[in-house]
Amino acid sequence: MVQKLKDPVEEAVIKAERRIVDIVSQPIAIPVARELEKGIVIAQTRIHEIVNGQGKKVNAFLENAQNEKPGKRSDLIEKNVLLNQMYNDLDGGNEKPPTVFKNEAEAAQHSKEIYERFKKEKQNNLERALDTVISIFSSSGTTIKDDESQKIHKQVQNMLAKELVLVPKVTERLTSTPPILTVETIEFERVSDSGGQNNIDTNHIMIGQTTAHNEKFHRILHENLHYAAYLGGGYDYRWRNEQNEPAIRNNVIWFHEGLTELTTQDIARKNNIVPDKINYVTATITAYYIQQLGGKENTLKAYLTGDLTEVRSTINQKLGAGTLEQLLDLQPREALKILREKVDTAGIDRSKWDQSDLVQNAIVSNERLSKEREKSGNR
Ligand SMILES: [Zn+2]
Repeated sequence: MVQKLKDPVEEAVIKAERRIVDIVSQPIAIPVARELEKGIVIAQTRIHEIVNGQGKKVNAFLENAQNEKPGKRSDLIEKNVLLNQMYNDLDGGNEKPPTVFKNEAEAAQHSKEIYERFKKEKQNNLERALDTVISIFSSSGTTIKDDESQKIHKQVQNMLAKELVLVPKVTERLTSTPPILTVETIEFERVSDSGGQNNIDTNHIMIGQTTAHNEKFHRILHENLHYAAYLGGGYDYRWRNEQNEPAIRNNVIWFHEGLTELTTQDIARKNNIVPDKINYVTATITAYYIQQLGGKENTLKAYLTGDLTEVRSTINQKLGAGTLEQLLDLQPREALKILREKVDTAGIDRSKWDQSDLVQNAIVSNERLSKEREKSGNR
């Protein structure tokens, strides 16, 4: 599960508004005004992008702009420059998070702040949709000491230093700002599949307490990987098309969860630990198909950096132009359905994939989950 702590939308809106006030209150020469105007456009586009999640509006604009009258061409060029700029900004990933905790005690203090913030939000009743999440967070949250989890966390960090060497900037950043783990009494699994949480823009990861050794490992590795991908730029999916034009689709959370869980399962199994279950089943199977089609190394690189250029090009060559873009715009269930159909239409034999350990275990995990839900009366 991914939890955003700061409110970037609000921050960006305030910044942009200040800038607009600045400009209208000052008599300035035209070139300077144009420059500032561009700054506002950038800020507004960023806000737009954050609000709409996927930068879809910018892409849609670029597509439509091709049919625009000549007078709008300069606008198109400006947007292209803007998109390129945004693309390049995202490309570097995050050298380190804005908030860095040095040790467990500092991170535990942060947990406390999170619980208090959720309590306040519940009182204000700001986000009705988040009510379930909030009640779970504010009910019984406490950080507990768990030496076994901390030991596993160390073991996972050593493992990742070897398993992620394909993207050196990620392993370097993991070493210079390692994630700090805390174990919490709250049941994350009631609101997310993974039983843990990665607090974006910090190096603080959390898991819910559990006594099962395998499940501890599973949760800790999963949240460690979210953090590794955050450092590499993996939260912002983007690619360059055949004409080298940039496209951005960030915040496709289900795809990110699927790739996180797939990578978790791959690394765990490679190190002789088979997790008892598979999280985000549909998203993970979809990610697995993508990995089979796009190649293991390229998919891992894409997961850690967010750069889908190579994976997209391979998949679209095999399954038809626009396939990967289409999948990212769908919800996981629909995406998997379309992906299966396209694989079959292309005459690619997927029986081996479906017989794999991972897909078979995913099916078992799914059946167990539906039974549990039936029993508890949940949807
Ligand atoms: Zn997750």
